[in-house]
Amino acid sequence: MGKTLALVVFAAALLSAQAPAKKTTAETPEARAARIHKQAIVVDTHIDTTMMLGRDGWDFMVRHQPESGENHVDLPRMREGGLDAAFFSIYMPGTVTGPEAVKRALILIDHVRRLTEQHPNEIALATTAAEVRAANKAGRIAALMGMEGGHMIDDSLAVLREYQRLGVRYLTLSHSVNTNWSDSSGDKPAHNGLTDFGKDVVRELNRLGVMVDISHVSDKTFWDAIETSKAPLVASHSSMRAISGHPRNMTDDMVRALGGKGGVVMINYSVGFLSNERYEAQQKNVPSAELPRVSWEKIVDHIDHAVKLVGPTHVGLGSDFDGTTVPDGMEDVSKLPKITAALLAKGYSEQDVKNILGENILRLLEQVEGVGRQLRAAASKSD
Ligand SMILES: [Zn+2]
Repeated sequence: MGKTLALVVFAAALLSAQAPAKKTTAETPEARAARIHKQAIVVDTHIDTTMMLGRDGWDFMVRHQPESGENHVDLPRMREGGLDAAFFSIYMPGTVTGPEAVKRALILIDHVRRLTEQHPNEIALATTAAEVRAANKAGRIAALMGMEGGHMIDDSLAVLREYQRLGVRYLTLSHSVNTNWSDSSGDKPAHNGLTDFGKDVVRELNRLGVMVDISHVSDKTFWDAIETSKAPLVASHSSMRAISGHPRNMTDDMVRALGGKGGVVMINYSVGFLSNERYEAQQKNVPSAELPRVSWEKIVDHIDHAVKLVGPTHVGLGSDFDGTTVPDGMEDVSKLPKITAALLAKGYSEQDVKNILGENILRLLEQVEGVGRQLRAAASKSD
């Protein structure tokens, strides 16, 4: 009895001690969202800003208006939006092939590397999850590279290895047209998914510790990649086909298979991928002024749908900024904290939100690095 009473008194003392403290530290939802967004390492796996880097007179370090053309990302707006790390896309249309594609890829890689060399105090080239974390700790933006299309390897694993040495950390197997070894969602099937060489590319990516990206590929290529890969995969910028029927989006079965293998789907902000109404109007060639408007909240719907399928540890952000038409309210990267606030308002936990904002993709990057190390160690032992 005495013991119980003592406990009650102790508990009451604790409560009375905590109650006023709780009042003084009470956060408004806005302040909570801002704090969590700031604490999180926020990563975007797909920005097409690389194209802008090559333009005469265009300066990444200067703030631009979103209205000026289709530009969504620069350093001041990245800071404003709390985006800590981004995969700069190494991209050209899949119709550019052969040595010309390799040359152009090298020039794009040079743009990204030079940006980091010219501004070492603000931007750090990152090729591992640890380097992203180190850059973040030092107050620098981390610049990573993802290659958007297998056509740039010119059917050569040696060329692929050179890209890895230069810092490329994912390869999208095909863009909107088939490569010689992988079918695209935007083209007529030619290979029934991946050819034998296509499977070799996946295996070499595993060995190199480079993420296999299945955005843009045909459904059959996706299933072949899932079956072949020893490491979990990424969908660097893909949305949900259950919400918008675009063939470039992922079906629920694909999302479950990707997540089930440890992979992460990074939600794309492109209006046609977010909204079925918009997609169908585009298919009917509705004049652009009459196309249905799409609100940024659709991004949250896609995140939420993916989370319902595979849980909050297999979903992230892959905006497609500077490569697409973005929805109302997400005019540029500075608007990013709205996603954090919306997820918290939906009842997502602080940890779930931090995972979606960046921890999930950093974990995937670490896993893929680990698989690569294991495969290389096994190969060197058997030599
Ligand atoms: Zn793309």
